[in-house]
Amino acid sequence: MCFGVRDAIALAVEQAEAGPLTILGDLVHNPTVLGALEAKGIAVARDVGEVKTPTLMVTAHGTSERSLARTRALGLRVVEATCPLVHVAHRAVAALRRDGYHVVIVGQRDHVEVRGLTDDLDGFDVVLEEDDVLALEEHPRIGVAAQTTQPVERVRHLVALIRRRFPQSDVRFLDTVCKPTKERQSAAVEMARQADVVIVVGGRSSNNTRELVRSCAQYCGRVHHVQTDADVRPEWFDAANVVGLTAGTSTPDDVIDRVESRIRLCADAPVEALPRSDQATWRRPT
Ligand code: SF4
Repeated sequence: MCFGVRDAIALAVEQAEAGPLTILGDLVHNPTVLGALEAKGIAVARDVGEVKTPTLMVTAHGTSERSLARTRALGLRVVEATCPLVHVAHRAVAALRRDGYHVVIVGQRDHVEVRGLTDDLDGFDVVLEEDDVLALEEHPRIGVAAQTTQPVERVRHLVALIRRRFPQSDVRFLDTVCKPTKERQSAAVEMARQADVVIVVGGRSSNNTRELVRSCAQYCGRVHHVQTDADVRPEWFDAANVVGLTAGTSTPDDVIDRVESRIRLCADAPVEALPRSDQATWRRPT
C-alpha cells in the first residue's frame, strides 16, 4: 500500500473513533478496505446532499476548491485525506492556469481525482488516447499535467504527440505522476518480462491496478487481475515455471499474502519461508 492510502485509512479510523463520519465516495478503490471501514460504522455518500453526519471526509483522491466551499457552506466539517502527491498535482494545475496555459490533463475523464483537478477550471481538456490528442484544438500555450496514477510512458508519449501536433504552441509539461506509481510500474514491467504468469491484486475499479495489468500484459501473455485469493484459478499455472505477483497501491498486505499462499497451493509448489515483499517471483523447483 502506498503511504497516501495508508494515511487516508488511518485518518478515517481516527476520525470515526472521535465521532460519526461520512466519506465522500470510496476512500480507496478496494472492496476489502471499504468493507473494513463500513464495519467500523463509517458511512459513504455519493453526493454531499446525502450526508447525515456533521463531519465529511474527502478521499485520498482529493477534490476541488469549489467542491470544498460548497461542502463547508452546508455547515459540514471537512476532513481532508487528500494525498500530498495529489496536492502537488493540484498546485501544478494551478500554476499552469496562473501562467496562462490551457490545461490538458492526461487521465480518465470521469475519475474522481481528475474531476477534482479540473473542477476549478473554466476551460480544459482531458486526454487518455492518441485519438483524444487528435481532437484537441490549438492554443498558444498548452500546459499538460497528469492523473497521479497514469503510466508515465503513456503520459510522455501523449505529451510528445501534443508537441508534434501543435509545433507553434508553447507546450509545458509538469510531471505529476506520483513516485509510488512510477516505481511500481517499472518494477512490474521488469517482473513481467521474466514471468510465465503474472497475478495483479487490487480492486476492479482501482485505476493504478488496471494500469499495472495493462503494462504487465505488454510483456507477459498470461496476466490475471484478482481482487482476493478466491479469484485465483489453479489452471492458470499449468506449465508455468515463474509466477509474478504484484498489487495496486490500495491493496492491503494481508490480501496480497492470502493470494500468494493460494498461488503456491494452486501451483503445488512448496511454501517456503521467503520474506514477503510487494512484488515477488519464485521458481517452481525442477
Ligand atoms: S497512488 Fe500516489 S497519489 Fe495516489 S494515494 Fe498513493 S501515493 Fe498518493
